[in-house]
Amino acid sequence: MGKSELANASVLRPEVRAAEPRELCTDCGISRSEDTKRCGRACQFIKPDYALLEQRVHGRARDPSRTDELHFGPLQRMVRARLAQPKPGAQWTGITTRIGERLLETGAVDAVLTMAPDPNDSWRPVPVLVTAPSGMAACRGMRMGYAPLLALLETAREQGFRRLAVIGIPCQVYALRSLEDELGLERLYVVGTPCSDNTTTENFHKFLELLSADPSTITYLEFRADYHVELRFTDGRKKEIPFLMLPLSKLPGDFFPMTCRTCVDYTNVLADITVGYMGGEGQQWLIVRNGRGEELLALLGDEVIIEAPGSSGKRRGPVSGFMKNVELAAGGLPLRSMPNWLRPLMGWLMPKIGPRGLEFARARVEMKAVETVLHLRRAHPRRMKYMIPDHVWRLVEPYGIRKGDGE
Ligand SMILES: Cc1cc2nc3c(=O)[nH]c(=O)nc-3n(C[C@H](O)[C@H](O)[C@H](O)COP(=O)(O)OP(=O)(O)OC[C@H]3O[C@@H](n4cnc5c(N)ncnc54)[C@H](O)[C@@H]3O)c2cc1C
Ligand code: SF4
Ligand code: SF4
Repeated sequence: MGKSELANASVLRPEVRAAEPRELCTDCGISRSEDTKRCGRACQFIKPDYALLEQRVHGRARDPSRTDELHFGPLQRMVRARLAQPKPGAQWTGITTRIGERLLETGAVDAVLTMAPDPNDSWRPVPVLVTAPSGMAACRGMRMGYAPLLALLETAREQGFRRLAVIGIPCQVYALRSLEDELGLERLYVVGTPCSDNTTTENFHKFLELLSADPSTITYLEFRADYHVELRFTDGRKKEIPFLMLPLSKLPGDFFPMTCRTCVDYTNVLADITVGYMGGEGQQWLIVRNGRGEELLALLGDEVIIEAPGSSGKRRGPVSGFMKNVELAAGGLPLRSMPNWLRPLMGWLMPKIGPRGLEFARARVEMKAVETVLHLRRAHPRRMKYMIPDHVWRLVEPYGIRKGDGE
């Protein structure tokens, strides 16, 4: 696509260079840029420094004495939220893409850098630069997999976009923030979503094949906070499967790549605002992290309904159980050691007795921290001292996991 053609379209989808092969890499796009050496400074998986970047982005690093900052990173407030008019095709109610639309409608940015579905595979993310509000609707919904979002920072620069919004998952946002000062931007807004248990789009298709006789009819999938996976189909049908009834034992042990098993930033702590669902008890969950995050929420005006988030139940038991299963799996998938006959009953019971709201989100963050330590200890012990920030050690301490020599 030529430069003028790019400038006239409301969604720019340029070709990007080939990726340089890297171990522990989610292809955020930096290895496809002009200066591939920047990976060394920018990568979440090489030598991350969260405290430094939190200080730079939010004016202070997370403060474990403040409620929930140890788990969720620096924050000003958290809310349960939904758009009064949910948007069709959105993963939840569409707060994320609506923020992008509002930024373009108000002229606050020249473009929004985000993911659209591949025209040949709606589950595959493809990075795009959206320059008009009408272009955002096509980006709604979740795709599984990762794609080189940040490779388009160069296109943005070539196009003269100096005021930019980026919607991204944590490993993309980490690299973006590491390089922010070198990008020559006048203004940058970062809308982050949480992310966990991601895998390649190819692997994800194998999972869909286990869920339906005709996987091509599945249009939507979400791991909900009530311990169910929700599926939607092309004919409008919905199906809810309790987590315990998922056919995980049929997946290969390496279904989730090592990057996503050892990722230390579940809640996207370097975003201005994080838009997720884990703490939302069936609604969306917003973590407003700084003044710019407040500005982004304010853009939605009375289109968004917000309430205080709830919290109930106790996480200690489920996190300990999860840890035992990760240990037993020894690198495979942490399947529950439970007889098949008990699974339907537990699947029904868990949403009623398990942790809910913020306690559910804390449980998931702690499970992720446990996984990080156990997998790195097994597979990459020498990388532990670089890859595991102090706050992760604090999160796993109550479960008897302690930093060893050289870790
Ligand atoms: C792989 C993955 C795992 C997730 N896991 C969790 C989780 O465990 N807990 C939780 O609370 N939230 C998780 N989320 C976020 C959640 O699914 C919703 O995206 C989020 O709550 C926003 O909902 P929405 O209705 O506002 O989004 P929408 O308005 O529908 O917008 C979704 C936005 O996400 C972008 N997007 C979609 N797929 C990708 C992708 N693969 N990579 C990068 N950007 C993408 C789209 O381009 C769009 O801008 C995950 C998201 C992804 C992509
Ligand atoms: S910075 Fe991005 S492209 Fe480079 S190694 Fe890390 S994830 Fe891969
Ligand atoms: S789980 Fe972590 S490493 Fe994997 S895609 Fe999501 S943010 Fe990136």
